[in-house]
Amino acid sequence: MGSDFYAETAARVEKALRYCDDTKKVVVGEGTLGQVGDFFKELFPGKRAIVVADVTTFGLAGDRVGQELAAAGVSVDEPYIYDEPGMHAEMRLVDMLKPRLEGTDAIAVAVGSGTVNDLCKYSSSLVERPYMVVGTAASMDGYASFGASIEYNECKQTFSCPAPRGILIDMDVVCKAPVKMNAAGFADLIAKIPAGADWILADLIGTEPIDEIAWSLVQDSLRDWVSNPEGVASGDRKALTFLMEGLIMSGLAMQKAKTSRTASGAEHQFSHLWDNQHHKFNGEAPSHGFKVGVGTVSTSALYERILANWTEGTFDAAIAAIPRNFRTWETIEKELEENFGSSGLYETVKRECRKKFVEPSELERRLKLFRDNWSELKKRLSAQLMPAKEIQGIIAAAKAPSTPEEIGIERARLQKSYALAQQLRYRYNCLDWTRDLGLWEETVTPLFQPGGFWG
Ligand SMILES: [Zn+2]
Repeated sequence: MGSDFYAETAARVEKALRYCDDTKKVVVGEGTLGQVGDFFKELFPGKRAIVVADVTTFGLAGDRVGQELAAAGVSVDEPYIYDEPGMHAEMRLVDMLKPRLEGTDAIAVAVGSGTVNDLCKYSSSLVERPYMVVGTAASMDGYASFGASIEYNECKQTFSCPAPRGILIDMDVVCKAPVKMNAAGFADLIAKIPAGADWILADLIGTEPIDEIAWSLVQDSLRDWVSNPEGVASGDRKALTFLMEGLIMSGLAMQKAKTSRTASGAEHQFSHLWDNQHHKFNGEAPSHGFKVGVGTVSTSALYERILANWTEGTFDAAIAAIPRNFRTWETIEKELEENFGSSGLYETVKRECRKKFVEPSELERRLKLFRDNWSELKKRLSAQLMPAKEIQGIIAAAKAPSTPEEIGIERARLQKSYALAQQLRYRYNCLDWTRDLGLWEETVTPLFQPGGFWG
């Protein structure tokens, strides 16, 4: 019937669910809102339900979800509807929802995308109750992930909490989502290409070994999921279904590996950096996926330069230069103070950087590992990555920003962002790698000179 892709998606998701502790059931199809009653009863037999939505998503699907639940014989509380124009996930909104959940024993049915899902996920965990989500856009990979990204004390932070028990997606709804939302999800998904390369580096030096199952849940079909960016932009059902599958699978892989390493590398650190700088463009914060997309092009460009220029000899020279180039903790600490001293991030980056700080002997061990495995590593990274221009073109074809200016970041700020993003998190990646070799000026700076990728 031309829609066999739903069966393909279902089979792959089913396989992934075997490895997940939190999520028990995922349905992606057309007209599935009509099944939400049975879906709920299967996961939460005998329980009450409360629909949680915002004004927009309530109109799109929330109202209907409530009616379907009631029609299936589920007792339904008055829905909780956020009426907060331009809302994003922040603790104030958790504090609003939590008392409602405390006053009932109903299971929350989140109807929405990133923000509503994160608010519901975290609020439900605070009352120690499972929840489910009806996703309304393919806009990010957080549906199936544990943890919720919520702004608290002016910093975006990830709060630990279980993933939803069930995820129900009606592609009739997702296909009507604004193009920019699905485009953002596309950028968040294609980010798994350079993120995978970063994990390969971390695996080699042993800081975060690759979990083979989680790796394959994300990476095996990744090229297929991102193969039709034009289709994502034009609302093609198959393209959007594969996009949604990829985003859900990314979350399931995080559940399996119990780390977001499976779905995020240095490209996400650009996004986190701009989040925490409270970056706004035309009066609003660009979406997570839009920032991650620019980060993805940024790290792809860095990798491209690395792979074109580094040889075994590069590592030998770097090893010989350790006594001269070694950055002491005092040097790094001073830099952190200059870069982050006045921001709320200072203590966090100091902790993360301290955690990844290594003595010269360990640095030498790493550089030798890279050198001794160079030809295989280079082959593996080249197979994993895409040329920066190509990935930029694909992101643009999905109608997501592929240049920093499109999200209001000038080139000089982007250049500085490479350095700041490197200091944001313990997670080893191409930025750390460049620092470890002592080749920052030789590798990052030329990207911004005439003839360089951002030049
Ligand atoms: Zn993401």
